Amino acid sequence: MVSLLDFNENMSQVTGETTLLYKEIARNVEKTKKIKIIDFGIGQPDLPTFKRIRDAAKEALDQGFTFYTSAFGIDELREKIAQYLNTRYGADVKKEEVIVTPGAKPALFLVFILYINPGDEVILPDPSFYSYAEVVKLLGGKPIYTNLKWSREEGFSIDVDELQSKISKRTKMIVFNNPHNPTGTLFSPNDVKKIVDISRDNKIILLSDEIYDNFVYEGKMRSTLEDSDWRDFLIYVNGFSKTFSMTGWRLGYIVAKREIIQKMGVLAANIYTAPTSFVQKAAVKAFDTFDEVNEMVKLFKKRRDVMYDELIKVKGIEVSKPNGAFYMFPNVSKLLKISGLDVKSFAIKLIEEKGIVTIPGEVFPLNIGKEFLRLSFAVNEEVIREGVQKIREFAEQMMNSR
Ligand code: PMP
Repeated sequence: MVSLLDFNENMSQVTGETTLLYKEIARNVEKTKKIKIIDFGIGQPDLPTFKRIRDAAKEALDQGFTFYTSAFGIDELREKIAQYLNTRYGADVKKEEVIVTPGAKPALFLVFILYINPGDEVILPDPSFYSYAEVVKLLGGKPIYTNLKWSREEGFSIDVDELQSKISKRTKMIVFNNPHNPTGTLFSPNDVKKIVDISRDNKIILLSDEIYDNFVYEGKMRSTLEDSDWRDFLIYVNGFSKTFSMTGWRLGYIVAKREIIQKMGVLAANIYTAPTSFVQKAAVKAFDTFDEVNEMVKLFKKRRDVMYDELIKVKGIEVSKPNGAFYMFPNVSKLLKISGLDVKSFAIKLIEEKGIVTIPGEVFPLNIGKEFLRLSFAVNEEVIREGVQKIREFAEQMMNSR
């Protein structure tokens, strides 16, 4: 006898997008308490997709480009992606080394399904984008965390020696994400090189998620594709969601050597057939919109500065200025100690009392985040000022109630 609730047994360890939970709480608060909601929880640019991309999608639809494409994506787009990466990173990627996917998340999913056997260990930083560990667990793999280090002055950094010490006989993969969600860290070129070296020297697969690579405010972004022998160790993931403000369109891609991409194509054909046809046509045009992208990044840099300048005034909160992505990850440990709350209850109270949505750091997913909150600055400047002012009131109430 089988119950409808006899799920894949690994499913009991897998959680969904807990970031959405906080929005749900906010919706209830808005309805019942009539408090205005300010959402710092969102993980997406707030600008409309650029006009040229929208026009290209409409044109493709009108021309009847509405049928299945190749599982690898259309050649024109694979070629564009390769050209872009080659111009930007000198990578020598061939079109056959690219597969287009319905988003970066499905791209990551393909990578994990292709490689992870039960018992395989995957090293990833704590904190990390939550979905890596969930999918690894679903497949019976074991996430092994290496802690990022934090100081208010220096922000977050990766301790490469600690990462190396986590390698065991069962280590199959290292997951690296630069610029980093949730901390907004741009890792130094030197650290990127060291991680590449570890992966190459130990013959461990490096899965590099560089989806925020255009959101860089200071410093140099070193891509893992810059090492000319990348084919020997690298699976590279990127996407259109963030750079071109195309989250709802669902489009991403993987770069790896040809044999690996062939296998990805087999998985893609079995799971979703192909990415959406007219979205791919639109994405070809996305590469002509870097003027718009650069304007957006300039705007985000200004917003980051505003949020940082306002947050450093809040007593009880310590924050470092992130160099990339669009997240700030302030340490709220003082306020937690004073209030006796854990970070989840703190985030919920902040919604219930002030209408401010943030994401408690422990969503990402383990220990380090227990003292941090993630705030997205992909919202307009006025909203940032108003929201941080309310956080300040909230913190002051806590400090005064000691
Ligand atoms: N990787 C990281 C680090 C992300 O932050 C996100 C989106 N929040 C993704 C991948 C998934 O992006 P997509 O919309 O392309 O699935």
